[in-house]
Amino acid sequence: MAQALTVEVAVIGGGPAGLTAAIALASAGIETALIGPEPSDDRRTTALLASSVAALEALGVWPDCAGQAAPLRTLRIADDTGRLIRAPEVQFEAGEIGLNAFGHNIENRHLLAALIRHAGAIGALTRLDTSADRIEPGAHDVRIDLASGGAVSARLIVAADGRNSICRTAAGIDTDRRTYPQTALTFNLRHTRPHNDTSTEFHTEEGPFTLVPLPGLRSSLVWVAAPRHAERIAKLGPDALSAEIERRSHSILGRIEAEPGHGRFPLASETARCFARDRIALVGEAAHLIPPIGAQGLNLGLRDAACVAELAVEARRRGGDVGAHDVLERYDALRRRDVTNRAFAVDLLNRTLLSDFLPAQSARGLGLYLVGRVGPLRRAAMREGVAPAAWQPRLMRGEVL
Ligand SMILES: Cc1cc2nc3c(=O)[nH]c(=O)nc-3n(C[C@H](O)[C@H](O)[C@H](O)COP(=O)(O)OP(=O)(O)OC[C@H]3O[C@@H](n4cnc5c(N)ncnc54)[C@H](O)[C@@H]3O)c2cc1C
Repeated sequence: MAQALTVEVAVIGGGPAGLTAAIALASAGIETALIGPEPSDDRRTTALLASSVAALEALGVWPDCAGQAAPLRTLRIADDTGRLIRAPEVQFEAGEIGLNAFGHNIENRHLLAALIRHAGAIGALTRLDTSADRIEPGAHDVRIDLASGGAVSARLIVAADGRNSICRTAAGIDTDRRTYPQTALTFNLRHTRPHNDTSTEFHTEEGPFTLVPLPGLRSSLVWVAAPRHAERIAKLGPDALSAEIERRSHSILGRIEAEPGHGRFPLASETARCFARDRIALVGEAAHLIPPIGAQGLNLGLRDAACVAELAVEARRRGGDVGAHDVLERYDALRRRDVTNRAFAVDLLNRTLLSDFLPAQSARGLGLYLVGRVGPLRRAAMREGVAPAAWQPRLMRGEVL
């Protein structure tokens, strides 16, 4: 049998959450292996909230991709349900809470390219361009058998292997899963009118239709629709599709030209019942899958990455074991509240949109009315939207580990 490479931490999965965790750990001097194939070209975009941008700045990654990101300075929510009870339009300005921008929107391919370049330049980080086939937790370390034939042994596994995580299964962690009668379609658009750094979310009876700025006269669109409707939209030719998007967006961006290619994602939410066990800590979609409403998914994933790195670095500096039970217990406790709060809020908003039940529609309308009109509530909602008030890992506050 081939000899195992021994490292302190093995990160499994080279998506954005795994890359960020590996960079954070290795930059702090922890011998780390990043196991996973390079992600394929991903044309989706991610709205990174201000604290995620701060973390990427602290890691030195942001300067390498900031030029491809557009600031989100204004968020608008407009009720386009056409129902009897409609919520008032609400607009939030980043300046009201002292921020230059709520965050930045960037195509995943640019973010991933910057992360990969940065990861390649860190001495303490070994990149293995292969998959993990089998994970075997033991009392003192975890053994990972690689598809390429070798093996790695580590004291801690950071499981960033996405929604079908084999690491989660190896740790015996179950999930709670829910599906929704909705599909998210993603497009990138060119348009003739400027977006003025404003993201506009139209709430429709099938789900949100959200336009998010990209640099120049471009925006991304996440269009949540009933599956049958989504199928019909996805089959439209380029001109009919562009015209339909322009109609749905009430021409606020002028003439629309949809760029070739789109993504299609059935909506589901899934949360691990425990975030860490048997030397395996779950991060990103291995820990939680959240519908793409309100830009929470990867922002949570980056907070997971920052948190697990901080706890491992602390344990290492104390001379302790980075995968010890108390480190994993702390990780679970620190991440659970943030993740369950966000998942609950996204689920609630989505259900009130789908609901034909008048009291649910009234509650959503009243909630948005109060948030729109009552200054302190509004600012508290904006602050909580950007970052959890309770606790934030150091990286998310822009501090290096
Ligand atoms: C339509 C849409 C819009 C979204 N918009 C936003 C947004 O605006 N803001 C936001 O914060 N979030 C957003 N999200 C969520 C965000 O895209 C995800 O949270 C994020 O991509 C998950 O990253 P990850 O690294 O956890 O997982 P992934 O990107 O899925 O990466 C997992 C990686 O693990 C690898 N892997 C799997 N199995 C193995 C194995 N056995 N061995 C080694 N490697 C393995 C895979 O190859 C992959 O590279 C959106 C999601 C969707 C669907």
